[in-house]
Amino acid sequence: MLTFEQALSIVKEKLGEAKRNPATEVLPLEQVRGRVLAEDICADRDYPPFHRATRDGYALRASDLGSLPAILERVGEVRAGEYFVGKLVPGQCLEIMTGAPLPEGADAVVMIEHVRVRGQEVEVPRAVSPFENIVRRGSEAASGSRVLARGRRLNPAEIGLLASVGQARVKVFVEPRVAILPTGDEIVPVDRQPEWFQIRNSNAVALSAQVAAAGGVPRIAGIAPDLTEQLKRLIEKGLEADLLLMSGGVSMGKFDLVAQVLNDLGAEIYFQGVAIRPGKPLVFGSVRGKYFFGLPGNPVSTFVTFELFVRPAIALLGGADFECASFLRARLGKPFKQKNGLTAFMPARVQRESAEPVVNLVGWQGSGDLVGAAAANCFLVVHPEQTEIAAGEWVDVMPRGWN
Ligand code: AMP
Ligand code: MG
Repeated sequence: MLTFEQALSIVKEKLGEAKRNPATEVLPLEQVRGRVLAEDICADRDYPPFHRATRDGYALRASDLGSLPAILERVGEVRAGEYFVGKLVPGQCLEIMTGAPLPEGADAVVMIEHVRVRGQEVEVPRAVSPFENIVRRGSEAASGSRVLARGRRLNPAEIGLLASVGQARVKVFVEPRVAILPTGDEIVPVDRQPEWFQIRNSNAVALSAQVAAAGGVPRIAGIAPDLTEQLKRLIEKGLEADLLLMSGGVSMGKFDLVAQVLNDLGAEIYFQGVAIRPGKPLVFGSVRGKYFFGLPGNPVSTFVTFELFVRPAIALLGGADFECASFLRARLGKPFKQKNGLTAFMPARVQRESAEPVVNLVGWQGSGDLVGAAAANCFLVVHPEQTEIAAGEWVDVMPRGWN
């Protein structure tokens, strides 16, 4: 069976290959959060556009502070939004506010807290080095240099940068359409009262939210019963989207029909089964030119396999760079044992205790337990070789909703 890393690299390879050029659209900045940039963005001028003071104080020549204390002549002041007309000559200084341009002739700023002012005389008791308390013109970005590359996902920091370089509208990729097809005779719509032996369709709802958060446009394609013909028809309908996600029906049970129906449709299966827990029966393949995932039906398995494999797939389909879960580190609270040689993703809570992050499993009843999973804020990641972990050891954690 494939390891977690092997399976992920297959998804990366297949969808990277498939990387068509998704269609693009031009949108105002207010509408691009979470979208993927479809053009390179360059600085329209130097950033900062002038040598900018980073402190309130006095602009001066560092070389004037050779013998201390130095007495300088105050020749005026400059605030942010203004500039000083003229040039400082040796022995002069100019009161300057944070954000104002350094006057010609000056090369440093001494903080207001460090000087004594008597009328037009400023006494400086300490030296400053050239360009102290200054951000030099062009040091963040030179005019014409690339500040954001095509394929970057636009979060608030990127949007702020776009605004600062004057891009009120930008070209982004159109989001991929993702069909969601839950399967199972026991599954009923959320707004219907289930019989005692039935289960509400929570997976399709959670998957919709995950798809939207991952930058896709979700569409729930109904609920497929465990009947070959109907399942086949709904799968064909789902293949109208850019990506098809099925939940349930991929295990080894008598009525787990998904793999069989896909096979009948001529699907190519890239993998069936990954050495992870939960989520072992995961299926990934393509049929009729479209990619699909068969996600295990247990709600926590569905959730985890989406985060691990489907989210990076949606990113690639949407023109984004490869984005996958990154693991952070925390100390394990209570000791942990496992014997199965899988990569485990266990619902857990990480909390700061004294100076360090400490992670503990939440009580849960296995991969069907959404109550337990909802109490978690991360997953404890246990690698196959980690059969026994002592309390206090550093372990990997995957934040929930890692993007
Ligand atoms: P399956 O993968 O079809 O064997 O289903 C595994 C478990 O997940 C069963 O207990 C199902 O009832 C449950 N399950 C399957 N699909 C869904 C769904 N759409 N919403 C909630 N639970 C589901
Ligand atoms: Mg089922």
